[in-house]
Amino acid sequence: MKIEKIMKFGGTSVGSPERMKALIPLITDSEKKIVVLSAMSGTTNSLVEINDLLYSDNVNEASLKIEALREKYHKVVDDLYSTDEYKKTGHELINSHFDYINNFTLRVFTKLQEKAILSQGELISTSLFHDLLKERNIKSELLPALNFMRIDKDGEPDYYYIEENLIRELRKHNADSIKITQGFICRNVYGDIDNLKRGGSDYSASIIGAVLKVKEIQIWTDISGFHNNDPRYVKNTRVIRELSFEEAAELAYFGAKILHPSSVNPAREKNVPVRLKNTMEPEDEGTLITSNSVLIDYKAVAAKDGITVLRIKSDRMLMAYGFLRKVFEIFEAYKTPIDMVTTSEVGVSLTIDNSQYMNEIAKDLRELGTVEVEGNQTIVCIVGDFRTDKTGSAPEIFQALNTIPLKMISYGGSQNSLSLLIDTKNKTQALGLLSKHIFNNTNDK
Ligand code: ADP
Ligand code: ASP
Ligand code: MG
Repeated sequence: MKIEKIMKFGGTSVGSPERMKALIPLITDSEKKIVVLSAMSGTTNSLVEINDLLYSDNVNEASLKIEALREKYHKVVDDLYSTDEYKKTGHELINSHFDYINNFTLRVFTKLQEKAILSQGELISTSLFHDLLKERNIKSELLPALNFMRIDKDGEPDYYYIEENLIRELRKHNADSIKITQGFICRNVYGDIDNLKRGGSDYSASIIGAVLKVKEIQIWTDISGFHNNDPRYVKNTRVIRELSFEEAAELAYFGAKILHPSSVNPAREKNVPVRLKNTMEPEDEGTLITSNSVLIDYKAVAAKDGITVLRIKSDRMLMAYGFLRKVFEIFEAYKTPIDMVTTSEVGVSLTIDNSQYMNEIAKDLRELGTVEVEGNQTIVCIVGDFRTDKTGSAPEIFQALNTIPLKMISYGGSQNSLSLLIDTKNKTQALGLLSKHIFNNTNDK
């Protein structure tokens, strides 16, 4: 059976019984599809809170939260189905998931159990939606993501395993039915329940779409496509109708929340177009992401928080070779990716977003020179036409931001982006200034 498209619906798109019902006309066209669902909005956050309480041995509070969430879902069931039969099955389903979660309050809490709890949001939303379609006599089947989605020992998708098992899973099912699967959740190399990190349902959709080489991967969310600046911080942002894979990947990686940071890569590798659509305004064409690249001066801006900068100073760097290799090897040993790098004759500054091994890395770097560590940093990434034979763009950006201290500048590494490091406290102002000066918007939030 040839699957033609993937339709991924995020948390808000399945966030209430009304929203779930509103998806039905969107998915009942004749194209063969896999529908990927997130958990209902707020659920994964609540499950994270429950996990935190269980880690800190706060069992009573955890139980209260579990029961509050159970109640919320019983109300969802009451409003979602119209027949008593489906309401009854729905209540039983909710009880079985919440009894399962509740069982973890009786044991010593571990990482494995944390992941098992986090998986419940997507398991519940897909089962509820599947039953809704069944109640409406719409042919549909569940494809359990835990039967095919897997990450390897480095946390990367295991494409060989996924392809084989997804195709095997599809063969078990009816060619005409709408297939529904869970985003976000997967198994790890040991076969335990794991996930693709927060916001990972986009990544699931892209991985599935790439493996099956579908015609289009659609990411349905609560906004009409990719905007030219972060709408959570800046007013009057505008939708961008077309983006290249490279541009979208860069913006997603550098903080555009509309897409999971890694989610463009699988689609880009198999050249499968990605379309971003709004479930509240399905007629809006949204944004199309393809291999076509149309350079314009400035396309969009994104910002990524939680960055730490490490500044290494050493006389040994003067006129020496091999110094940078030694620095990079330290980050490699701790599997910590570097985002930005700038060098001078006597020093090198690097940024990282994963500070798990910060102390170990800083200790090893001190063998090479003095090390300064500064947290609470933000990378602002501007995507546009930054070909190095062109004049004007970089100076215009610096002019726009002339009231903000720039801590690092990365230019020339890519022809379509320029990145800057600033203190996080200056982020909203910086995004507003860029909006005003490069996109000619007058109001910032
Ligand atoms: P979903 O639950 O559907 O996955 P998300 O909340 O993860 O939705 O992503 C959509 C949100 O991303 C939007 O509501 C918007 O606030 C935020 N966002 C951040 N940057 C951008 C951007 N450049 N364009 C559009 N939305 C953005
Ligand atoms: N439910 C998960 C989260 O909230 C995955 C997703 O929504 O994409 O992070
Ligand atoms: Mg998301």
